[in-house]
Amino acid sequence: MDALDRLTIPLLIWYGEKKRALPWRSDPTAYHVLVSELMLQQTRVAAARSYYERFLQALPALSDLAAAPEEELLRLWQGLGYYGRARNLRKAARRIAQDFGGRFPETYEEILTLPGVGEYTAGAIASIAFGVPVPAVDGNALRVCARLLASRADVSLPATKKAFRARLLSLMPLDRPGDYNQALMELGATVCLPNGAPNCQDCPAQGFCAAHLLGREADFPVKPPKKPRRIEERTVYLIFRNGRVALRLRPEKGLLAGLWEYPHAPRGENALASWSIVPAGTAPGGSGKHVFTHLEWHMTALLVETEGELPAGWVWAAAAEMRKRYPLASAQRMFDGTVFSRIT
Ligand code: SF4
Repeated sequence: MDALDRLTIPLLIWYGEKKRALPWRSDPTAYHVLVSELMLQQTRVAAARSYYERFLQALPALSDLAAAPEEELLRLWQGLGYYGRARNLRKAARRIAQDFGGRFPETYEEILTLPGVGEYTAGAIASIAFGVPVPAVDGNALRVCARLLASRADVSLPATKKAFRARLLSLMPLDRPGDYNQALMELGATVCLPNGAPNCQDCPAQGFCAAHLLGREADFPVKPPKKPRRIEERTVYLIFRNGRVALRLRPEKGLLAGLWEYPHAPRGENALASWSIVPAGTAPGGSGKHVFTHLEWHMTALLVETEGELPAGWVWAAAAEMRKRYPLASAQRMFDGTVFSRIT
């Protein structure tokens, strides 16, 4: 009998006593779990909370989400980043309307076919909303498992995840699969913390956790060394004409897909000339940095006044339009103060 075998009962007792009161736990319908899980894919719980409540106030039912216009969807998501998640949510709602007659599918296999839903999210929805005994293995659950077993397997490898998943499936209590999954994740999120700083004194597994008994919590989970982020030096052009600022739309796919942004280009390029914009005057506009998962933008802004036209597809935006009509990439929000002080 290893530490994972011994965990189930103390874990469920601990969860019953210590779980956080989170808005998506009070009424865990499949729709609520879907929204919360997609929000939480790249966002911390504390930050996601208010967004979740606002989102459900605006779009209380799956059918509301399916019918939501793109601009409203992006406005509700603005600030959370990784906008592909919001689009996938709506695609999933539309698929459910089209292929399942508007009724949320209840099997793990069917849920897994929805856009933006991988094994983890499908497992979370199936187990929490429908009581299906299937694991939901996120980074928190993986870390807890790796430490409990002092496992030397590299947790970034799909084979490791698959093996833990199979193990958890065999241990899952059939009467409380949703609680079991949530408890494991909750333990990782609140006690068995990452970066070598677990609070073992508060953990229900402290008496049998292999990493803890060895005093080597920081050595697990085993991960490959991180690749350094690519750094891009970019000039951001804050271009003004008659109290309005120039914005352009990002492509439909890829980084910050479909969002508006202040035009920018690699530093050193003569971008204004390539856009056929003739400046009447320029001045420095400050600088800032935005960190993506694999990339950093180091941005220096240039204030540009012009009397001329913009390239096709770009727009001149006034302050009210900036707030309502053009959801802006969060990567450039540090320039908002400068921009809003110059537009009307
Ligand atoms: Fe994590 Fe410590 Fe609990 Fe082991 S005893 S599972 S290392 S918090």
